[in-house]
Amino acid sequence: MLPEGLIFNIKRFSVNDGPGIRTTVFFKGCPLGCWWCHNPESRSGETEHVTITRTLHGREFCHHEAIGKTVTVEDVLSEIEKERVFYETSGGGVTFSGGEPLLQPDFLVGLAEACRIRDIHTCLDTSGYCEPLLFRDLIPKFDLFLFDIKVLDRSKHILYTGYPNDEILINLRQLDCSATGYIVRIPVVPGINDDEGFRDDLKKLLETLTMSRKEIHLLPYHPLAKSKMKMLGREYKMSDSSELDQRELHKFADSFQQAGYKVKIGG
Ligand code: SF4
Repeated sequence: MLPEGLIFNIKRFSVNDGPGIRTTVFFKGCPLGCWWCHNPESRSGETEHVTITRTLHGREFCHHEAIGKTVTVEDVLSEIEKERVFYETSGGGVTFSGGEPLLQPDFLVGLAEACRIRDIHTCLDTSGYCEPLLFRDLIPKFDLFLFDIKVLDRSKHILYTGYPNDEILINLRQLDCSATGYIVRIPVVPGINDDEGFRDDLKKLLETLTMSRKEIHLLPYHPLAKSKMKMLGREYKMSDSSELDQRELHKFADSFQQAGYKVKIGG
């Protein structure tokens, strides 16, 4: 029997998670705790039960919802297969995202291998936070990686995500040395990495890589996760006034375009 895994969503017709039209499978569970996380419902590796309150015409309505569902590889494949025609006509495929898919390697590999047999393009959206030997073995299982870089300074990485970035940087180099293509994705977060110092450090790092695709995606911060964190009973560490200055975002994009990178805002 093929392995089971815990997911919290399957999104169809996704156009921001890799090339073409894609189905994005959101894995549940992530070891990191990024302050700005846009998908806080992905973080716990267990099914969570929440109460959602909505107001309509001055009256409050509550309903209970379970976040997270255990599914088999076959369950997910049957959903993926429904959109095959769109993958074929748009150059799309499937993206495994989260949370952190690498936390469920057997399930992830089961899905990736099943897609490859069916000739469906696969993309892994990852924080890169993973034991390097495991990461090395998983690289050839996918057609493309979306590899996040959040903060480069080690102590700031610990502060803002809860963990150091040593393994992430090792894994980025392993990926760079492989035959698998990748796109670097940067969540641009006000007060954390939207400054010139970070841009310069990132450029220096990328210059040391082969980076055959020379493509980066900037993911602008938005505060929508705040209400989700409240619903989950967790602390939202970003300040209430945090807002991304669009000028900084465009400076970011311009400086990398001038350095020869293909830059996309929004993934
Ligand atoms: S790695 Fe992604 S899913 Fe995990 S906490 Fe950070 S932003 Fe959220």
